[in-house]
Parts: sequence; C-alpha cells; structure tokens
Amino acid sequence: MRENNGAETVDVVIVGGGSAGAVLANRLSADPERTVLLVEGGPAYTPDEYPAVLRDPARVGGDEHDWGLTATIDDTGRVIPTPRGKVLGGSSAVNAAVALRARADDFEKWAAHGVTGWSFEEVLETYRALENTTDGDPRLRGRTGPFPIRQRTRAELTPSLRAFIDASAAQGLARIDDPNGTQQNGVTPYPLNVVNEVRQNTGLVYLSDEVRRRRNLTIRGRTTVDRVLFDGTAATGIVTLDGQVLRAGEVILSAGTYGSAGILMRSGIGPATDLGRYGIEVVSDLPVGRRLQDHPFYYNIYTLKPDANAMSPAAGAIVWTRSSEAVGDELDLHISATHLADPSISPTGGAIVLATAVTQPDSIGSVALRSRDPKDGLAIDLNFLAEPRDRRRMLEGVQLSRRIGREAAMAAVVDSELTPGPGIRDDTALEQVIRQQLDTYQHPTSTAPMGAENDPWAVVDSVGNVRGMSRLRVVDASIMPRALSTAPNVTTIMLAEHIARTSLL
Ligand SMILES: Cc1cc2nc3c(=O)[nH]c(=O)nc-3n(C[C@H](O)[C@H](O)[C@H](O)COP(=O)(O)OP(=O)(O)OC[C@H]3O[C@@H](n4cnc5c(N)ncnc54)[C@H](O)[C@@H]3O)c2cc1C
Repeated sequence: MRENNGAETVDVVIVGGGSAGAVLANRLSADPERTVLLVEGGPAYTPDEYPAVLRDPARVGGDEHDWGLTATIDDTGRVIPTPRGKVLGGSSAVNAAVALRARADDFEKWAAHGVTGWSFEEVLETYRALENTTDGDPRLRGRTGPFPIRQRTRAELTPSLRAFIDASAAQGLARIDDPNGTQQNGVTPYPLNVVNEVRQNTGLVYLSDEVRRRRNLTIRGRTTVDRVLFDGTAATGIVTLDGQVLRAGEVILSAGTYGSAGILMRSGIGPATDLGRYGIEVVSDLPVGRRLQDHPFYYNIYTLKPDANAMSPAAGAIVWTRSSEAVGDELDLHISATHLADPSISPTGGAIVLATAVTQPDSIGSVALRSRDPKDGLAIDLNFLAEPRDRRRMLEGVQLSRRIGREAAMAAVVDSELTPGPGIRDDTALEQVIRQQLDTYQHPTSTAPMGAENDPWAVVDSVGNVRGMSRLRVVDASIMPRALSTAPNVTTIMLAEHIARTSLL
C-alpha cells in the first residue's frame, strides 16, 4: 500500500462529495486551520465543466454518472436498477431536483428513535440558513443561503400539469402555493432547485470556484474508497480501491445510503455473521444495512391529446396527502405529476406520468455485501410492499391517481390511459399490475441509522458518530432513522449543515 502519495496527514477526510459530502467539505474547510480532503468516486467537474446531462433537470439519472447498482424489488425476485450519482454533487447532480422539506411529523418520528437535537424547531433555522428563495414567508423561508430553491408557479406549468392541479382540487385536495411553508396536505406545483433551467447540484453551489481555491481543501475525483483503516477502535484513514492509504485525524463517510453501508461493512463494521462469510475481520458488530427504507413508486401514465402534448418543463406538480390509514399528522402518499417519460411511449408524442409513492412505508429492506471486492456492488433487497398495510396504501394512492386522471379537467387534455390501461378495472388486477410494474422513487435511507444507545437498530449517535468507535462518522441519507414522508435531498443537505453547525465546527 502506498501512503498519502507523500502528502501530510489531513485533519479530516470526507468520503463522497454528494448532497451531504459537498456541504461538509465547504463548511469544514471554512476554517483555514483545518485541512480537508474530499475523496469522490466520480469525476470532480469544476462548476463550468458539468455536462448537459447533469445540468438539464429533465434528464434524470445522469447516464454514465452512475454506480450501476441493482436491487431486488420484492419477493418476486424482480431486479431493477437503483441509480446513484457518481460525480461531485452525487445524487443531487442526477436527481429530479424536487426541493421539499420534511415535516414536523417526520422529526417527531426521528425523536421516537431516541435521537436528540432534531426537533422541527431545532432544524428550521438550518433549513432557512441553507436556502435562498424569493418566495414564501420569510419567518420560515431563507433568502441568503447557498442552495437556491424556486417555487414553480401554475403559469410556468404545461397545460396538462395545470389540468392535474385542477383535477386534484376537484377531488377535494387543497391548493397549496408553498409546500415548504405551513401547509402540505394538498396539491401544489413543485419547488425545485432549478435556476434558469439548470439543476443546482451541491458540487456546483457548495463547491464554487471560490471555495475550491481554499488552500486547505483538496478534492480528489475518480477515486473510489474501499475501506476505513483503524488503530483499535479509532479511525486513522482510508484505503482506496487501488490500494493507496490516505491518513486522516477524522474520517467522515458521506458516500450515501448504499456507498457508506458498503464501506462500513468492508471495514469490519456490520453484522458479524455477514462479515464472517467474506473473511472480514469484525471491528464492531453493528446492524449496518439492516433497516433500509425506500419509497415504492408506481407510474399511472396517460397519453396527451396532440393539442395539449407540451412536455416542458418536465416537473411538475404534486399531491402530498394522507391515506385512510395515516396515523396522527402523517402524510403518507405522494402522487408526483411530471413529464419525465420518453415521448416515444405515446403515439401522440406527449405523456403525463402520475406516479404514486407510499412515503411512510412499514416495509424494511436490507443491504449486504456480495463479496469483499467493492467492484462487485451490493446485494440490495428493497422488500417493497412486504407489509400488507403498504400494499393497501399503494392501492389507495393509485385509485386516487386514476380518479384524478378521469376528472373533467384531465379529460380535456388526456388522449388515453397507457398504464395500467383501461382494461385493468378491479382491485385484484390493479394490485397485480402494480406488483409487476413497481419501481423505486430513488429515496433510499436508513442503512446506518441514528438512534439512542438502547436502540438495537442504531449504527450512529445523534451527530453521526459510529457507535463504539472514535474519529469515525457517517453523515448522509443513510443515518436518517427512518424514511421521510417526502423526497430526501433538501433534508440530506440540512442534515449535513446541522451536524456541521452543531457538532463539527
Ligand atoms: C434518479 C434520482 C432522482 C431523485 N430525485 C430526487 C428529487 O427530485 N428530490 C429529492 O429530494 N431527492 C431525489 N433523489 C434522492 C436524493 O438525490 C438523495 O436522497 C440524496 O442526494 C442523497 O444524498 P447523499 O449525500 O446521502 O448521497 P449522494 O448524493 O448519492 O452522495 C454520495 C457520494 O458518494 C460518492 N461515493 C459513493 N461510494 C463511494 C466510494 N466507495 N468512494 C468514493 N466516493 C463514493 C458518490 O459518487 C456520491 O458523490 C433522487 C435520487 C436519484 C438517484
């Protein structure tokens, strides 16, 4: 193994420059006395270099900027791709740029796992500080932070997206103009981190040219990390895929829900029985990867009439509401309306996708190693709809989506229903089609969850320190104690800002 390429030991090494890692690299290197090394598996484009596929918010998935992971979706064994951004900016560079905060109810559920410091009142200031937006109540919304969020207006939407809003209102859903304000239960145009039709990823906005000029910050792209090195239970550095050793005073894993879980397990932190299978020496027997959550996603697609088939801007509008089984104040259903579809699927050249998600799933999935070799990827089991309550809520969501699709406002723009299709009428047939065509909303979390010491599922404490270890943290979507009731990007950014502000600086 080659050590540090001859360089000095850094104070902090951050592994992964995605939604969380780019934030940390910025905040930690603001102190010129602290040396920070950010190691990213994908290319570290300068702000000017990001290619069109990453700038264009209508192109979701990032093409070659992907880790190529796959997952088993449920007990049928069907395998689907699970895209994860492989580039500076991470999944924030390839995502749909929907910028919705989590709700007070989400943070109350975190508190039930014994985490402290994460009440809505405590995180609100961090949400405000991270964003700059021109809209909304200034007591709730931020004006001067690094991350731009723009609320789409009805006037900016395509005719069919406007029809979706009207049809949802006709189904009794409230019209909302700022879902990042006080009210979420209803229908609204999307807030997006898109400015001048450019997706604002964290590599772009948190790692500006000015930040990158800091002499105490080094960014290494195209460097995949294999594992963490230890002296006893203290992290001392990392080992890259090609065997280089990079020493550091503290190691922070921000490689994402799958990436961080993989690195932890290859480093000997994970379920002892699994690690033993691959001959990995156990450093700490912790339930890494055992509480994966993600949002199941079903696409109810309509072809559009030729005179209403505009598909740009692709995003969008959303119904965020509660199923008949929702508990307390929770909102457990999304119906996301977009034109994120290949127009060639429609004979009229236009389509609208109403995608239902159960956003407070009971089902728990898992992530495990396939082998000791990082190149072999991971065994991901989403275990979607395993719990009957998730199946019932998914069915209810799709039924609502189809009622919206049949409303007069939609009839004015819709040519026909493409999926599940008019032939699918009864619930049994609908449930079957949902199973066959189910996908992921791409919101995996909770493979290294925060929790109190007596929480048997917890891998890290309330500020990301790995239990029983020193100088090793995980800070990314993997540490959320459970799935959010919404899309997780802004909350992942908030989480990194919050941990930086409350315990790292
Ligand atoms: C296609 C898609 C669409 C989505 N749409 C939305 C949306 O519209 N709104 C929303 O809120 N959320 C959306 N999400 C989810 C959201 O983007 C993620 O939840 C969020 O980006 C997760 O942030 P993170 O920091 O945990 O991980 P990431 O942003 O994925 O960052 C992890 C980083 O670590 C790097 N890395 C991983 N492994 C290694 C390794 N071994 N060595 C070195 N580097 C490594 C990766 O390359 C990446 O840069 C979407 C996600 C995807 C993939």
